[in-house]
Amino acid sequence: MVVLNYINGKMQEAVSGLQLDNFEPATGNVYGHVADSDSADVQLAFEAANAAKSNWANTAAEEKFKWLNALADAIDADRENFAKAESRDQGKPLWLARNEMIRAAQNFRFFATAAMQFASESHAMENKAINYTLRQPVGVVGCISPWNLPLYLFSWKIAPALAAGNTVVAKPSEFTAATAHLLAETCIKIGFPAGVLNIVNGLGPKVGQAMVEHRGIKAISFTGGTSTGKHIAATAAPMFKKLSLELGGKNPNIIFDDADIEKALKTTINTSFLNQGEICLCGSRLLIHESIYDKVKNRIVEEAKKLKVGNPNNDDTRIGAIVSKPHFEKVLSYIELAKEEGGQILTGGAALNPEGCESGWFIEPTIIEGLGPKCRINTEEIFGPVISLLPFKDEEEALQLANATEYGLAATIWTENLTRAHRLAANLEFGIVWINCWLLRDLRTPFGGAKSSGVGREGGWEAMRFFTEPKNVCIALS
Ligand code: NDP
Repeated sequence: MVVLNYINGKMQEAVSGLQLDNFEPATGNVYGHVADSDSADVQLAFEAANAAKSNWANTAAEEKFKWLNALADAIDADRENFAKAESRDQGKPLWLARNEMIRAAQNFRFFATAAMQFASESHAMENKAINYTLRQPVGVVGCISPWNLPLYLFSWKIAPALAAGNTVVAKPSEFTAATAHLLAETCIKIGFPAGVLNIVNGLGPKVGQAMVEHRGIKAISFTGGTSTGKHIAATAAPMFKKLSLELGGKNPNIIFDDADIEKALKTTINTSFLNQGEICLCGSRLLIHESIYDKVKNRIVEEAKKLKVGNPNNDDTRIGAIVSKPHFEKVLSYIELAKEEGGQILTGGAALNPEGCESGWFIEPTIIEGLGPKCRINTEEIFGPVISLLPFKDEEEALQLANATEYGLAATIWTENLTRAHRLAANLEFGIVWINCWLLRDLRTPFGGAKSSGVGREGGWEAMRFFTEPKNVCIALS
């Protein structure tokens, strides 16, 4: 597959003609190419988006609803093809990619209805005046997404941006651009209006940076690492560009002694290792009450050993390949660091060469104990199938350990004591708290992180507000 840019309704090579190799994580082989674009391509995409801006902003909400629904229907109709492309490109198990394609379609469908229902406020001043707030599209906006949940997160940004009446210049991660390419082909197939959505492929420091620097691109919605987020914020701030930053996490998963332990374990195995641990919401720090520490430890180790690591196409595979060689090496280097810091590896801890995928990038699900809260393993984001266990003696210590990182994306609590659950939820410094569940998502709720995990919120009206500019109009009544 050659992943091309989609600009002004057409597939096109990068202006430079350059391409990047695209690797299949399960084999480590090059299986395609991706346009290696630069600022010239971003400029073309901007011009197309700018030319389409006024028409799309003035398109009736019902028409926008129809277009976004048409994209959702087309993804649903071609789900298997999308899922296979996603799994091959990213390394995730095919069954998981199928679920994510359902969610990608839902994102378009959800924001299709938002286009119809979004409304704004009015504020009456007794007999003096009435204010009403117009929420107008921002204009041309930029959407930059990472490699872990490629189409799922790409559509999570594009859909509200379009629903709110903006035209879009978007960049998927160059590691995982295949499904964005299929989406572009789908746009062409269904006759999606040219220039409304434009996709530019290539490297972050070239394409992403050019988008952030472009004065005509009025807002940037970014999901990715915290250090990239910092760089983007520093570039965009002097231009007073609107920014939504969804960044990294070091999420605690807290199990109290009064929890339904079997239920907690069943979910915790996913919280720890789903998608090879490459979900920003994964719980990489498992905090366990000291009275049940050994029991939970033994059970989680037992369950982790059962997880089959291997060919993403096999139905019984639970852990697929790590997305790229550099990331594979980074995760392994953290396992080495855990040993240097004095941690004990309870299970896993090594790369694997599963049958049929001998040269791919696979890592065993790895569980570490014996490291204090200040160790790098417990403070830095690893973003792989690696978790660390920490015991706590009481609620106060659990809270203190949970909050002891610069990150604040998501926390999970397992307890049957609802008073404690509410108390903790109020005091955890995280944007999202799950109680006795994990990854349960209502698309209307605010989504995002506190502290170094981000700025702003996505989801529901939050996203529609981000992608619109409020303007207050005050009319005197006398
Ligand atoms: P990166 O920050 O490396 O990249 C994210 C995107 O930004 C990619 O498309 C990347 O392009 C691009 N990019 C890189 N440099 C720049 C730049 N200077 N200007 C503009 N864009 C740039 O993150 P990863 O792709 O490695 O994704 C993993 C990270 O994403 C993890 O930290 C994870 O926690 C976070 N994440 C956060 C989520 C949240 O909702 N809070 C959800 C999912 C992931 P390229 O790929 O070419 O480098």
